[in-house]
Amino acid sequence: DPVILWFRQDLRLSDQAALAAALGEGPVIPVYILDDDAPRQWKMGAAQRWWLHYSLKSLDKNLRERGSRLILRRGDCAEELQQLARETCSQRVHALAHYEPWWRNAEKAVGQRLDLQLHDGGLLLPPGCVRTSGGDLYQIYTPFMRATMLHMPPSKPSPTPSRIDSPSRWPHSDSLDEWDLLPSRPNWAEAFANDWMPGEAGARDRVSSFLDEAGDYDLARNLPSAEGTSRLSPHLHFGEVSPAYVWHRISGVPGDPTTFLKELIWRDYAHTQIWALPAYGSKNARSVFDQMPWRDLREAKGDFIAWKKGRTGYPIVDAGMRQLWTTGWMHNRVRMIVASFLIKHLLIDWRHGAQWFWDTLVDADYANNSVNWQWVAGSGVDANMFSRIMAPLTQSPKFEAADYIRQWVPELAHLDDKVIHDPDSYDVRPSAYPPKRIGHREARERALAAYQQSRG
Ligand code: FAD
Repeated sequence: DPVILWFRQDLRLSDQAALAAALGEGPVIPVYILDDDAPRQWKMGAAQRWWLHYSLKSLDKNLRERGSRLILRRGDCAEELQQLARETCSQRVHALAHYEPWWRNAEKAVGQRLDLQLHDGGLLLPPGCVRTSGGDLYQIYTPFMRATMLHMPPSKPSPTPSRIDSPSRWPHSDSLDEWDLLPSRPNWAEAFANDWMPGEAGARDRVSSFLDEAGDYDLARNLPSAEGTSRLSPHLHFGEVSPAYVWHRISGVPGDPTTFLKELIWRDYAHTQIWALPAYGSKNARSVFDQMPWRDLREAKGDFIAWKKGRTGYPIVDAGMRQLWTTGWMHNRVRMIVASFLIKHLLIDWRHGAQWFWDTLVDADYANNSVNWQWVAGSGVDANMFSRIMAPLTQSPKFEAADYIRQWVPELAHLDDKVIHDPDSYDVRPSAYPPKRIGHREARERALAAYQQSRG
């Protein structure tokens, strides 16, 4: 009998345990199902839909080169899979396991109707594998990372099969273009294609081009002006490469790639947190934050819009928000700065920021996004203290962000390294550049007072 191969955030053919298992059992029917209802507010955002369009196209091409093809369906995953099984006389579904709450619900529903076989491979280790000596999950990243390291390296990635058996007749497939995943007018994703090549080949190219830089990662990763990080996040999110593949390619490079490998473990850590607390994206992990007097979004609307548009009057914040809008990605150091600015300087609930990131990031990932936003807010299980308020104007020269600001904030491009970071040091503020929404000291005092109030 044919078997169904259900693709989700694992859009690759190499090191694909579900595909490997399906291959031995009969003709394979690869399917991707788009369900915009089940994830509710976490329905795939606009930037991700751009990515998904090209990634599915690339996956279909790779399948066709091996005698197969990708079937596209839209709707409830369990219903669509059941329907597909009926049409093709198949019973069994192979898939990689995923840990977002809506995927877990879907897996449960599919498992009630069909023979669903779940496989590992989306993370270095499945959640729950590393535990304290008392059998608990780790709450804090560093001990989690150390315990994970004891199990590394991950098993060697398996190669891409050269042929995939197809059924005698293909079932109906939607057309990708009809899904309208790409923006129409205005085409805000115009520049995305300069930076990104979604799909397995693009992901592997990215790994190869990072090989030369991985040894310097420890030094370069904090500098937004340098290309010091891998930019693998959207490829990892969509599963176009496996983390095991990245681990094995990078761990052999000269220099010291350990810091980079530890970042890959952050991904496992974040997924473990959402596995343990599925509502991590919408609920404070520390309940004291439920009392936080965030500003009402109606009152703070002007500030929120200025933040989204990169017009806060803080050059490093504005550079980051404009990079995000233009490219669908932002440097990690700057993500921390802009998130802290929204939460503490503007006193806006972290959930509004997380939702904006969800819509605009090509790498928007429920685990990584939620855990990092709560980390910055101080409301997460492993978190920064709220009272440690990051000063954007100090962070900017510290991490040598002058070139980065010149690139993303053209109104300031004529300013030199010494003055560019802080508008107070400009002779005249360029008229096209907005004044600061709020002064640092005033913002700091307001945030600390709000925090005190929340603690009663
Ligand atoms: P590299 O530095 O090259 O790291 C390699 C890989 O390790 C990344 O691709 C990513 O998969 C993983 N990684 C690195 N840092 C982290 C981290 N702090 N947490 C979890 N995984 C990490 N990352 C996302 O993938 N999706 C998100 O939606 C997301 N939202 C974030 C929101 C905020 C407020 C912050 C502060 C960080 C967020 N991150 C998110 C984490 C991090 O910023 C990105 O993973 C990183 O910038 C991606 O660039 P890179 O691939 O060049 O990273």
